[in-house]
Amino acid sequence: MNESFYKDILDSLNDGIYFVNRRREVLYWNKAAEQLSGYTAEEMLGKRCADNTLNHVDENGRNLCRRGCPLAGCMRDGESRNVNVFMHHKDGHRVPVSIRSLPMRDEEGKIVGSVEIFSDRSHTMAISSEVEALRQATVTDPLTGIGNRRQADISLNSFGNAWRQNKVPFGVLYVDIDNFKSVNDRWGHDVGDRVIKAVSSTLIATLRPTDVACRWGGDEFVVFLPNISEGGLVAVGKRLVLLLRESWIELDGETVSFTASVGGAMSRFGDHACDVMARADAQLYMSKKSGRNCFHHEEELREAS
Ligand code: GH3
Ligand code: MG
Repeated sequence: MNESFYKDILDSLNDGIYFVNRRREVLYWNKAAEQLSGYTAEEMLGKRCADNTLNHVDENGRNLCRRGCPLAGCMRDGESRNVNVFMHHKDGHRVPVSIRSLPMRDEEGKIVGSVEIFSDRSHTMAISSEVEALRQATVTDPLTGIGNRRQADISLNSFGNAWRQNKVPFGVLYVDIDNFKSVNDRWGHDVGDRVIKAVSSTLIATLRPTDVACRWGGDEFVVFLPNISEGGLVAVGKRLVLLLRESWIELDGETVSFTASVGGAMSRFGDHACDVMARADAQLYMSKKSGRNCFHHEEELREAS
């Protein structure tokens, strides 16, 4: 087979391919490399690949041509490398490519250069960001932007595992807006929605960054508080009742006030995660039963003052 036979095969591939010698001067540059980089073979042959051409930057923003060139690396140790990088395009933009670099050896096995094969990842990246957006949508409550019930189940599972496996305790608070039906009836559904959003924003703004608040459904929220003591849980539960009691939304000169009832429970030895939820829910029921606008925790009655 003559050389042009192999060259035709390499030119028919969708992946960019180029060879460099030990000085990293480009000896071969296929058609796909021209398309993916915008540089023609004429422009590249004889040039050092690191000289203001491809300028690979990795996913952490590190310039590989200055330090960490995979071609130089595989010429040094004879090992092939796979890495995802952002390649410079002649037009100035960056192209996400996955590259594979391999050492090239002569008949005696001496490394005389290396070859890089690179393929376009733009499509894969667009798909993976769409998948991520869809995944995010499935666990987000559209009205409030916080996690929905599905997210709550996921969080419960992971806090439950951390408790069982590593004894990381967690508390659960159920928060339910009081007489919310009458807010809707009196002020309308849109105002009801604004109240739900206000409660959700207060939860997010006043909890610790590691706490997770989700909308359980309707006017009910669940909060997971990892690594908290029983005293801490009681303090947070009471504080939430007070904060919500003192909140209102303004409506054409009128104010719409609202309150919420809260029930709390801590993880206990031998618990399954859903047991904690059930106990917190029972305490929410106690808060409702004893007149609303208050906090109850486990067996003891601890009403917010
Ligand atoms: P309680 O103090 O016992 O919790 O009484 P409540 O009226 O708050 O409870 P109930 O469960 O009877 O009513 C909850 C209401 O919340 C009923 C439902 O129409 C309303 N709701 C559920 N989801 C939404 C929503 O997304 N927006 C609005 N505005 N209302 C909602
Ligand atoms: Mg309610």
